[in-house]
Amino acid sequence: MKILSEKVAAIAPSATMDIADREKKLVREGKDVISLSIGEPDFDTPAHIKDACCAALGRGETHYAPSSGIPELTRAIADKYRFENHVECTPEQVIATCGAKHAIYEAMEAVINPADEVVIIDPAWVSYEPCVQMAGGRVRHCHVDEHTFQVDDRLAEKITQKTKMIVVNTPCNPSGTVFSRQSLGIVADLCVDYDLIALSDEIYEKLIYGKEHISLATFANMQERTITVNGFSKAYAMTGWRLGYAIAPPAIIRQMVKIQQHGVSHPTTFVMWGGVAALKGDQRCVEDMRREFDLRRQYLLESLPDLGLEAAPMDGAFYAFVRVPGDDVEMARSWLSHAYVAVTPGTAFYAPGWIRLSYATSLPRLREAVDRIRRSQTG
Ligand code: PMP
Ligand code: GLU
Repeated sequence: MKILSEKVAAIAPSATMDIADREKKLVREGKDVISLSIGEPDFDTPAHIKDACCAALGRGETHYAPSSGIPELTRAIADKYRFENHVECTPEQVIATCGAKHAIYEAMEAVINPADEVVIIDPAWVSYEPCVQMAGGRVRHCHVDEHTFQVDDRLAEKITQKTKMIVVNTPCNPSGTVFSRQSLGIVADLCVDYDLIALSDEIYEKLIYGKEHISLATFANMQERTITVNGFSKAYAMTGWRLGYAIAPPAIIRQMVKIQQHGVSHPTTFVMWGGVAALKGDQRCVEDMRREFDLRRQYLLESLPDLGLEAAPMDGAFYAFVRVPGDDVEMARSWLSHAYVAVTPGTAFYAPGWIRLSYATSLPRLREAVDRIRRSQTG
C-alpha cells in the first residue's frame, strides 16, 4: 500500500521555515546566531492591538464567528481598501483568513483546475508554487530583469492556452523591489487580453522607502479579475497572530469561504478583534516601525558594497537581496557555520547566486552580522 499522497510528497518543505528551524536548533545548543533569515519583524505587536484582543477575550469573544470573519473586521478591511488603496470594495468581497498564507492557499484551491498554469515572477517567495501544486496546477516561472528587477515583455512569452493566473508580489519578497506602474501595467494588460486572473500579494505595502505602492486592482478592468492578498504580520508585527485577508470578486470569495469552513472554520475570534484595532487605530506605530527599518536599510546600503556585495533595489519590505560570488547555498551554509549568521539562499526563491538578508533585526545586531561576515571573508 502506498501510504503517502503523491501530490503532497512532491512538494518541497518551506525553505524559509526550514532555515529558521535549523537556526533555532543552534540557538538551543547555546550558539549566538544572528538571524537575518526569517522575514519577521523584531518589534512587539503594538499595545493597543494586544489590548483590544485581551478585551475581546475578557468579554467572552471565545465562540465561533462568521466563516468569512467578524463583520467589524471585513468592514474595516473593505474601508481600508476603498480609502487607502482606491479599490472599490464591499465586505462581500472580503474574507479574513489565518494569515495571508492561507488566503493564498484558499485562492489557488478556489480557482485552479488540474493542468491550469500559473505564472510566477522570479525571484519569488517560497509558498506560491506549493499552493499552486496543492491545487493541482503547474507553475511557469518568468525571471525579472537582473538589474532593474522590474517586469518586462518576457512575461508575455510565458502565457499559453493553459495559463489561468499571474502572481504579483509588490513590494517583493525576496528582492525588495517595488513594481513600477509600467511593470504592473504589463501584468494588467496580459490579464485583460488573455482573460487571466491575477493574485496580487500586497503584504509589504506599508514597508516602502521613497516609492509608491500601487494596487493591481486599480488598473482598468482588473478589479473583477484580481485576488488581492494582504495581512497583519508585517505592517503591525503580528506574525504569530495568524491573521490575513483576501479581497476578490464575490464569486471567488464564496469558494474560498467553503474551503475555510471545511478547513479551519475562520480565524480565531478574539484575534480578529486585534485586527480591527490594527486597522482602525492610530497608524503611527506602522510609521515608527517603517522608519526603524529604513535606518537599518540605509546602514546596509552603505555597508554591503564594502563587503563586495551588490544588492537588488532595496525599495520595499525588509530584505536585502545580494549577488554572491559562487554557490549561494554553500555560502549561506558557511556564513551560518563559521560566522553564526543565518541567511536564506536565493535558490529557495528560484534565484541561484543570490542571498536574502532580512533586516528585521536590531541595528546593533545587524552591525555585528556585517562584522562577522567581513571577518569570515578575510579569515
Ligand atoms: N506573502 C509574502 C510575500 C510573505 O513574505 C509572507 C510571509 N510570511 C506571506 C505572504 C504570509 O504572511 P502571513 O501568513 O504571516 O500573513
Ligand atoms: N514570509 C517570511 C519569509 O519569507 C516568513 C516565513 C514564511 O512564512 O515563509 O521569511
